[in-house]
Amino acid sequence: MVLSILSDDEADHLLQLVRMQAVTRKHARSAVRGESPLDEKTAEGLLSQVKELQGEDPLCLRLRKECDSGKARNGYELSQDGLLRYKDKVVIPQQKALTQELLYLYHDDQFAGHWGVEKTKELLQRKFYWPDLANDVREYISTCPVCQKNAHMASLIRYRSLPVLGKKSR
Ligand SMILES: [Zn+2]
Repeated sequence: MVLSILSDDEADHLLQLVRMQAVTRKHARSAVRGESPLDEKTAEGLLSQVKELQGEDPLCLRLRKECDSGKARNGYELSQDGLLRYKDKVVIPQQKALTQELLYLYHDDQFAGHWGVEKTKELLQRKFYWPDLANDVREYISTCPVCQKNAHMASLIRYRSLPVLGKKSR
C-alpha cells in the first residue's frame, strides 16, 4: 500500500483527506440519545455507535492496528470493551455530524447552560477525545447565537448603566 512509504504525519494527513463524512445528522442525533453532560457514565448506546464508527474510520483503524501489534502511539489503547481510547477517553471519529451533536449536547442542550469555552471543553474532555476538540469548542461557541446575543446584551447593559450611574452620583 502507498501509505507504507509515507511518514506517519504524511499518512495521517492523507487519511484525514480521504475520511468520508458518512454520518448524517439524524444518525448522530440518535447516537447521542441518552447521553448527558451531567452523567458520569457515557451512554451505552453512544459507546456502541462510536465503536462501530471507529471500525469505519481510516485513522481509528490505523491506530487500532498499531495497538493490536503492540506499537500503540503514546496515550492510545484498546480498552476491554473494544473501544479505542486516548488517555482513557473514548476516541470520537471525526465525523462532523457527530462532533457537532456532542458540542450541542454539551453546550446548549437542556442540561447544559451555554457554558463558556473552558467549562464546555472540560466537560467533553472528561469522556471524549478528538484531536480538534479544543478548536471545535471555541469555534462552536463563537458562532452560538444564544451566547452572541447574551454577550451583546451584557455589553448593552454595561453601556447603558454608565450614564445612569453618572446621573445618580450628581
Ligand atoms: Zn451558547
